[in-house]
Amino acid sequence: VNRRIWTALSIGGDCMRILVFGPHPDDAEIGAGGLLALAVRQGHEAMIVDLTRGELASNGSPDERAEEAAAAANILGVRRVTLGLPDQGLADTPEQAIELARVTREFRPDLVLIPHREDRHADHRAAADLCARGVALASLARHPALKGASHRVARVRSYLIHSAVVPATVVDISAVWEIKMRALEAYGSQFGSPGSSAATPLNSGEFVRFVAARDGYFGSLAGVARAEGFLACGIRLVSRLDEL
Ligand SMILES: [Zn+2]
Repeated sequence: VNRRIWTALSIGGDCMRILVFGPHPDDAEIGAGGLLALAVRQGHEAMIVDLTRGELASNGSPDERAEEAAAAANILGVRRVTLGLPDQGLADTPEQAIELARVTREFRPDLVLIPHREDRHADHRAAADLCARGVALASLARHPALKGASHRVARVRSYLIHSAVVPATVVDISAVWEIKMRALEAYGSQFGSPGSSAATPLNSGEFVRFVAARDGYFGSLAGVARAEGFLACGIRLVSRLDEL
């Protein structure tokens, strides 16, 4: 993890730090690319942490995927790092979770977005539990493998990758939706036309349209053009009614 990327951040009073954990490069953009673009536009600091390099994908070498991921982060205006955990090998283990806890402690986010547990991809499902454990570990003051001050994340929410779960909250991304689409289009090796590469459900030419259709559907739930959906992780406890 390259620490220099966030040591220079200057944080104002209302500025939030938002961290999105993505199992593979492109997942954070699929589910929360609009939220990230919106966050940057509103003056917040945002970072994507890819858990793997996506090295077992049918198309695109790890180097190509890293270039695409960097280009997408650039389009959104967010920072990005990879933890380099094994593709198709994500698991809710203390060893993997400690890596997530480290990056959480260093970036010290106010809001963390993690994949939703219901998803057709095994890595995405595993990531849901792994991310929850990593965030929880970051708050332990006495963990022997974690240096620096502990950090309790105020809000953890799930985002949706390959899932059609109806969300509890939708964020209006209409104003930044073109930016999200451009970030997705940066992933030429994954979503571009098959050409000489292996045909997959992702590069049939339909995938980006599927994402667009879902954004439109989630928008329709709240009467806006485009939206992304988010869910609370576990039970939300409130004591003040203006937090309900
Ligand atoms: Zn993925």
